[in-house]
Amino acid sequence: MDLAAPIQEVKGIGPKTAEILHKAGIFTLRDLVYHLPRDYENFQQAQKISDLKPGNVVVKAKVEDIKIRRMRRNLILVEATLRDKSGAIKTIWFNQPYRAKQFDAGKDYYFSGTMAFSYGHYQISNPSATLAEDYDAKASTAKIQPVYPARGSIKSQDFKKFINAIKNNIALTPDMIPNYEGRADALFDVHFPETLEAAKAGREYLATEELFSLLLAARLNREENQKLRTQAIHGDMDELKTFIAKLPFQLTNAQRRATWEIVQDMEQEIPMNRLLQGDVGSGKTLVAALSCLVAAQSGAQAAIMAPTEVLATQHAESLSKLFGKKLRIALLTGSTKHKPELKKHIKNGEVDLVIGTHALITDDTEFRNLGLAIIDEQHRFGVMQRQKLLAKAHTMPHLLSMTATPIPRSLQLTIFGDLSVSILDELPAGRQPITTKIISPNSTKQMWSAIENELAHKHQVYYICKKIDDKGASELSSVKKEVQKITHQFPNYNVAYLHGKMKSTEKDEIMTLFSNGEIDILVSTTVVEVGVNVPNATVMVIADADQYGLSQLHQLRGRVGRGSDASYCYLINSNSDTPTRRLREIERSQDGFYLAEVDLKLRGPGELYGSLQHGALDLRIATITDTKLAHRADNLVKQFRQEGYNMLEYKELSDAVRKYQRLTTLN
Ligand code: ADP
Ligand code: MG
Repeated sequence: MDLAAPIQEVKGIGPKTAEILHKAGIFTLRDLVYHLPRDYENFQQAQKISDLKPGNVVVKAKVEDIKIRRMRRNLILVEATLRDKSGAIKTIWFNQPYRAKQFDAGKDYYFSGTMAFSYGHYQISNPSATLAEDYDAKASTAKIQPVYPARGSIKSQDFKKFINAIKNNIALTPDMIPNYEGRADALFDVHFPETLEAAKAGREYLATEELFSLLLAARLNREENQKLRTQAIHGDMDELKTFIAKLPFQLTNAQRRATWEIVQDMEQEIPMNRLLQGDVGSGKTLVAALSCLVAAQSGAQAAIMAPTEVLATQHAESLSKLFGKKLRIALLTGSTKHKPELKKHIKNGEVDLVIGTHALITDDTEFRNLGLAIIDEQHRFGVMQRQKLLAKAHTMPHLLSMTATPIPRSLQLTIFGDLSVSILDELPAGRQPITTKIISPNSTKQMWSAIENELAHKHQVYYICKKIDDKGASELSSVKKEVQKITHQFPNYNVAYLHGKMKSTEKDEIMTLFSNGEIDILVSTTVVEVGVNVPNATVMVIADADQYGLSQLHQLRGRVGRGSDASYCYLINSNSDTPTRRLREIERSQDGFYLAEVDLKLRGPGELYGSLQHGALDLRIATITDTKLAHRADNLVKQFRQEGYNMLEYKELSDAVRKYQRLTTLN
């Protein structure tokens, strides 16, 4: 049987079952074979009941006194006593009413579950149950039983049967990747392991195989990119140096290095595709600006696309200040007036640098000669939006993407393949560290007097709340309530608020007033998070700080500490007196890359990179943290390309790679 055969060909799968499996994305034998166990039960390790200790346990026992109880809120409990020669223990199943009728009295079953002390006695909760005689009779080799993730009404036991029905096929599975032998063994060991080590090794083989497809896709995209041609941009390096020398401050080494990398990329006829990754406040905008200067000097136009109007406007203002008459800069957002005229200027090449929002990519925006496209906060844009910007050039332009979400170095290979990355891991000189303090809700007095002191020095304050108003049951801080309190508390200062439900013109107005120093205290939800730069703001208060992820706290804190004055971040921990690990970490570190590593450990990759819209997230077997396997896969990819294999001759592989090529948008 072919791996591409439909699942209906498996013994035991009729039309009804097939329908449920289809809904779960399982169509072919391959899909079924790759529905891997989520865990294993090891019946060899069955213990006497009298020897059990809390934790994961396996026992061989008879069932007594089984009772079903219907509780409130649709909760159904099935309780029983498990007994072997050594003793007895209680067991309980939640919402599994079929358990009440499952057992033959007098027969032995294997139970595998977690034993813990609760409701005044030890019990095993939600154990799996397998008829011992079935298992003991035929399982001389199958000592270890897989547990499959259920799909709809199809349970682990059913998957076990289906997989058993195609056992012989699995043993004959051909390799997917030339030069990477052992797929049949790996699949066999995952489904029918003789030891847990064998199962683990099998899984690693399959994870490597998956990473191979991902990394090959990234490499092929890159190779495609290398075939494209665009205009080489040769800036005047002397002029660039003179310009840099005249800046009121020194570039950081990281900025210097990144600018140099970009300049060199742009000198090629192969379009640049570089990611500029920098911690908050590391000065990405300046690197982008210098790149635009180089492009303009060579006669090409540049465009910077930002996710919000506030941010685009701020970039336009700060770059106009930076360049004076040197560059002709235009701002193009939804609320720009005289758009048709402006667009004419852009089309005629009378503008060197266009800074804008999504308004940049509407159909009627045309460039005379777009040579460099820059996307700020790139993870906030979708694939289509990025492509639309690129399509504004006559040939593929040079592309610089920027992000303030630090990706731990350990993950770069898995996430970006061999995409070119420049890293700003250094803050400009003269920045003072942001004094960060965890505050308990009963001891905010000191915080408020420190804030008063900052206000007296004409500095500004952000106060971040979780909610907009007090609807709903939760006790979390709300913008509306805090605005009232704070206005009352500081009658001599201007207090304003900002949240996501306001019209974008209103939001812009408030943000502009705040950046002009006309608002002293801004009470807001997390909408201030994106890139806004107000160097005069020195205090960031985050109410209910325990409710946020580490990376988000770091981003929020990064709104202050942008000038040369000392800054403060107060994290109000409302939930309990003991601060969470997250809060303690953010209190002690200001290194975004370090915090990203910690966040990754605490929350797992899905949470953290959910916003990256990247193919890596579609991994089913591997995780992006499998760095060892990623390197193994990367070597296999290099070998594959060096030895000149033609992917098209490997149907299954090319299907897998194509899927990732479509998803791998950064490459
Ligand atoms: P981010 O990387 O978070 O986008 P910005 O580009 O907004 O950071 O820069 C933050 C602030 O640092 C801005 O006020 C900018 O003018 C300033 N800045 C950038 N580079 C330097 C430097 N080399 N020395 C001093 N200040 C700098
Ligand atoms: Mg920025």
